[in-house]
Amino acid sequence: MTVLLLNASFEPLRVITIRRALGLVLTSKAELIERDGNRVIRSAGGAEFEMPAVIRLRRFVSIPFQATAPLSRRTLLARDAHRCQVLGCTRSGQTVDHVIPRSRGGLHEWCNVTLMCVRHNSQKSDRLLEELGWKLVQQPQVPRGRQVLLARAGLREPPALWEPYLAA
Ligand SMILES: [Zn+2]
Repeated sequence: MTVLLLNASFEPLRVITIRRALGLVLTSKAELIERDGNRVIRSAGGAEFEMPAVIRLRRFVSIPFQATAPLSRRTLLARDAHRCQVLGCTRSGQTVDHVIPRSRGGLHEWCNVTLMCVRHNSQKSDRLLEELGWKLVQQPQVPRGRQVLLARAGLREPPALWEPYLAA
């Protein structure tokens, strides 16, 4: 379970742990905006707190604009929803495939990486999709907009409670 942290301006900043969110609320650095239903969280001392889903900083912080997310296994798993991206395959995607193989000059960048299951990745080896007659579910793209925040957090789909606070 994670919490969406908003700037004082209501702009989404990042996804944080519940522990960190409670720390911010208890020290009055942030306020609770959305609670997660009627769930409560109990401290070691027995105190009960409302489970936060969205919190907002009381003071505005200036952060540099993040055009996209760094490419990593974690962020790629989020972009491709943990699924093998070969059209028609229903297995989970556990391996990173370079669409244009690195041996043929393909780069390790968002537009050239896609998730594949172990079987498809080993079948593909250093061949091109056209050579195998395969198609991908979607053309690999650089995460933009809300995808940046979600990919950074390793999430494909946000909890429903976050939706009103996330831009397209
Ligand atoms: Zn597959």
